[in-house]
Amino acid sequence: MTPPRAVLVDVGFTLVVCDTEEIATIAGKSAVRVEPEALDAAQAQLHAELQQYSWASHAKSQAPKSGALFFRRLLELSGAVGDLDTAATTIWESHLRRNLWRRPLPGAAEGLASLRGAGVRLAVVSNSEGTVETLLNEIGLGQFFDTIVDSWVVGIAKPDPRIFQLALTRLGIAANEAMMVGDSLVADIQGAEAAGIRGVLIDPFGHHEEATVPRYRSLRDFAIALTGDT
Ligand SMILES: [Mg+2]
Repeated sequence: MTPPRAVLVDVGFTLVVCDTEEIATIAGKSAVRVEPEALDAAQAQLHAELQQYSWASHAKSQAPKSGALFFRRLLELSGAVGDLDTAATTIWESHLRRNLWRRPLPGAAEGLASLRGAGVRLAVVSNSEGTVETLLNEIGLGQFFDTIVDSWVVGIAKPDPRIFQLALTRLGIAANEAMMVGDSLVADIQGAEAAGIRGVLIDPFGHHEEATVPRYRSLRDFAIALTGDT
């Protein structure tokens, strides 16, 4: 496969997952007891649900509500006991101050480094809450990107094709010279395709065996296929 000039990269469930240790600690402050391991399993289960519902494509004005709902459902799926509404709100407020999606998926950094090494330009296109650039710098992934587009900051969310076009404009690269990698068939793949960009699915939990677009388990596997690096 000839590497494209640029790759646009999603963040949640593509590069990182939630830090479940920290979520368990915050939940504990609201007297909700839950094990990080149960949250890990719930996170994979919630990923499958997220493919059915468009939670992530929230408008800025609705984000606090939909964001707390995400953590409420995560707690519920993990079998947490206690006042889940209060705990979910507390977790969401904490997330707005310091992004909780801070555990890199296996192969994320290696994949980004490999793409950079092949001369591919990289941009983040994320539906987030204004903290994704700080997050990526804190966990050591920010260095790989030429530009970071956070839906909250620019006021456009995936799957709106304009957010992908904005990233391309910043890079000075045409749609047919780029690929978009992400875990959501709607937000990432359909959105990118509407902007004329080829979509590649990252499927960390193996929820999309039926997918008709190229599909990889991790960003590292995608980079290997693209560059031949191992
Ligand atoms: Mg995602």
